Amino acid sequence: VVRAAAPAQKLENADELIDSVETFIFDCDGVIWKGDKLIDGVPETLDMLRSKGKRLVFVTNNSTKSRKQYGKKFETLGLSVSEEEIFASSFAAAAYLKSIDFPKDKKVYVIGEDGILKELELAGFQYLGGPADGDKKIELKPGFLMEHDENVGAVVVGFDRYFNYYKVQYGTLCIRENPGCLFIATNRDAVTHLTDAQEWAGGGSMVGAICGSTQREPLVVGKPSTFMMDYLANKFGILKSQICMVGDRLDTDILFGQNGGCKTLLVLSGVTSLQMLQSPNNSIQPDFYTNKISDFVTLKAA
Ligand code: PLP
Ligand code: CA
Repeated sequence: VVRAAAPAQKLENADELIDSVETFIFDCDGVIWKGDKLIDGVPETLDMLRSKGKRLVFVTNNSTKSRKQYGKKFETLGLSVSEEEIFASSFAAAAYLKSIDFPKDKKVYVIGEDGILKELELAGFQYLGGPADGDKKIELKPGFLMEHDENVGAVVVGFDRYFNYYKVQYGTLCIRENPGCLFIATNRDAVTHLTDAQEWAGGGSMVGAICGSTQREPLVVGKPSTFMMDYLANKFGILKSQICMVGDRLDTDILFGQNGGCKTLLVLSGVTSLQMLQSPNNSIQPDFYTNKISDFVTLKAA
């Protein structure tokens, strides 16, 4: 018997929610910004939460940038957020490899953008692939055999605007020819919002190509997997019941919070509308929903 989740409640008393937790984990796109545009009222809201002594953490599934690059983005938007408060899925891939003591003499093959390379480098891992393989072509002459580095012990796949057949074949060879090779996905978002004119194929499309050719499932380190939640809880020594996860997406953010045993708040400032939340086809119900995070400042108890 599948029991329907209790429907999300409209947030009425923000202070009550704020007082009930010590940490807020904020998703980025759709909550803090939309593309390169800051969402209304965010600076005041973060300032208010900090003045109340709340710990703020920012988690994004977008692996194209490193923590340092996100630090610059926050700064450009006029927000004072330190690198240590930012957890991108690019960082999660490197943190995962560290957590399992991935050997430093092995290599990582990357299908993805610069953020993943930067984080692997900072963590001291050797890598190949990434944007450098973006213009590689395969010339299929009779008898052609593609070589690959047998020292690759992990393939990391994330969103990649320079994705091509060379990368698919290289990553596939690494995984198929070496049964011990790890297959790690930064995230599996089906779509993303590169422009607001339409939905664009997300990181899940690149991951799906490698699933298709290897017939293997990846280990996902981004939302909604529990890896980052466990990592954060451990790093900051926080109880998951003392966390509120705030996000705009049901199948990544809200599920991430629920998988971690946190309170969850859906904001309607991103990809999910009230209609989608309340659709009979949706089974993921956050504890609360509200329009945008600046409602924290304006919604007071009656
Ligand atoms: N992946 C890519 C490539 C994106 O462009 C985005 C959002 O812009 C995301 C993932 C989702 O990011 P977030 O987890 O911050 O919503
Ligand atoms: Ca989001």
